[in-house]
Formats: sequence, C-alpha cells, structure tokens
Amino acid sequence: MAHSPIRILILGGTAEARLLAACLEDDARYSPLTSLAGVTARPSKIAGDVRSGGFGGVEGLRDFISHESIALIVDATHPFAAQISAHAVEAGAQAGVRVLRLERPSWESQSGDDWVEVADIDEAAQVIPEGARVLLTIGRQEVAPFFARHNIHVMARMIEPPQLHVPAHAQVLLARPPFTLEQECALMEEQHITVLVTKNSGGDATFAKIGAARSLGLPVIMIARPEKPSLATASTVDELLEQIEAELR
Ligand code: NAP
Repeated sequence: MAHSPIRILILGGTAEARLLAACLEDDARYSPLTSLAGVTARPSKIAGDVRSGGFGGVEGLRDFISHESIALIVDATHPFAAQISAHAVEAGAQAGVRVLRLERPSWESQSGDDWVEVADIDEAAQVIPEGARVLLTIGRQEVAPFFARHNIHVMARMIEPPQLHVPAHAQVLLARPPFTLEQECALMEEQHITVLVTKNSGGDATFAKIGAARSLGLPVIMIARPEKPSLATASTVDELLEQIEAELR
C-alpha cells in the first residue's frame, strides 16, 4: 500500500522558502504547505499548498499543526521575523513536532568598509548624522523613527507603500528587488546619498546595495539580527533537504 506524502509546514515569506516549497512539491514523498503572514498584497507564486494570515499565537499554531497532521516544521521566515520563529519552537514543542530552520548567513564587512553596526531600528535612526541623505532599505513597517528625524533627508525604498504619512523631508521609492550593482550605484549617485541604512538580511537578492556603498566609499548603518531560539539551522535549501531526509528517515 502506498504511503501518503509527509506533510511539511514551511513558515515562509522569503525567496528560500519559495525555493524549498518547489523542491518538496517536486518530490512525491512530501506534501509542502507554505504559510505566509499575509502582509504582502501580491505575493510571488508558491508551489504546493499555501495559507495566509497569523495563526493566533502559539496556541493557534499548535492547533493548526495537529489539525493539518504536520510531521515537520521548517522555519524559513526572514532573519528579522523573530516572533513567528519563537512561536514555531514553542508550538512545535507542545505538539511534539520537530522544527528545523532555513536561514541565509549574515553579510560580513570586509577591510575598507565603513560599517556602523547597531542593535536595532531605533539605534539606527539615532546614529544618522544631522544633514545626512539616507537611503533607507528596511521595508515599510518600521520607517517611523526615521520619518521623525527632521534634520535628515530620507529616501525610503520599499515594495509596497507605507501606512504612514510621508513627511516633507522624506521620499518613498517603490521598487522590488533584485537590483544590480550598476542600478544601486546610479541611484546613490543621482540622489546624492551619504549613508545607507539596512538590516543585515544576508543573501544575494539585496546585496548589490552593500557592494554599491563599498565601491562609492559610503558608510553603512547595519542593523543586527534579532535573537532567535537556537535550532538546527541550514543555510541553503540543499543542506536543509539533507536534514529533512535525515530527520524523517
Ligand atoms: P514577526 O514579527 O515574527 O511575526 C508577527 C506575527 O505575524 C506572528 O506572531 C504571526 O502571527 C504572524 N506571522 C509572521 N510570519 C508568519 C507566517 N509565515 N505565517 C503565518 N503567520 C505569520 O514577523 P514580521 O517580521 O512581521 O514578518 C512577517 C512576514 O514577513 C514573515 O513571514 C517574514 O518571513 C516576512 N518578511 C519579514 C521581513 C522583516 O524584515 N521582518 C522581511 C522580509 C520578509 P500569529 O501570532 O497570529 O500567528
């Protein structure tokens, strides 16, 4: 008698999560179900089953895991999505379901880089020097502390518009990565940018801005990743697929 495929819950919202879903969907042994937070109006297409919206905290996630007969959870959320990662570990423990993490490595500075490493968004907003022209690349959710700085100019790049009023000293640029090094250099030069603010997201899709700041000799305010509960972590989809095989063998 044929076995039914193993149901794997992917906590998504990243390119790696999409790639993982495609690999698992291609393998008859697995049945991937990707969960999105529902914050993006038009998410990219994802292979396999997809659901959207919060679970309602740890309890809601635990009940979902049981109801959907989930055999394994892969936390493939963004390195800065700390709450859902903590919930996954707690709900997995309560439901007796193992959790693996897929997380791209952080970017590292190299000799000659001018990086100011800060702990969080608020510190990033505070350390920007007066009169700076900032390229702000942190998404649309956390722009408030930068919009509140009236003695700097902010160009805030994001995929979808912010829910906040954009003050006169700020400008919103709607654009979806990836960007090339040439595009990033041209933007920084045309806009007379003097400092780049970014989360240490890692990965290739948004790395060109770091390369551009490096080649133009611009300082980078680099926001450190939040703490997440420690877990078996793979940095690539291939590595994670091996871990899944080992786990479910
Ligand atoms: P967060 O602060 O860790 O989570 C806030 C709440 O959103 C969670 O408690 C959960 O609600 C819900 N949630 C988050 N991710 C979810 C998922 N994949 N499926 C179902 N519910 C989810 O998350 P965030 O930083 O707002 O990020 C939201 C999503 O955007 C994540 O999926 C992440 O991968 C993606 N993303 C985040 C960033 C970033 O910089 N933070 C960047 C790119 C993409 P309940 O408690 O109700 O379950």
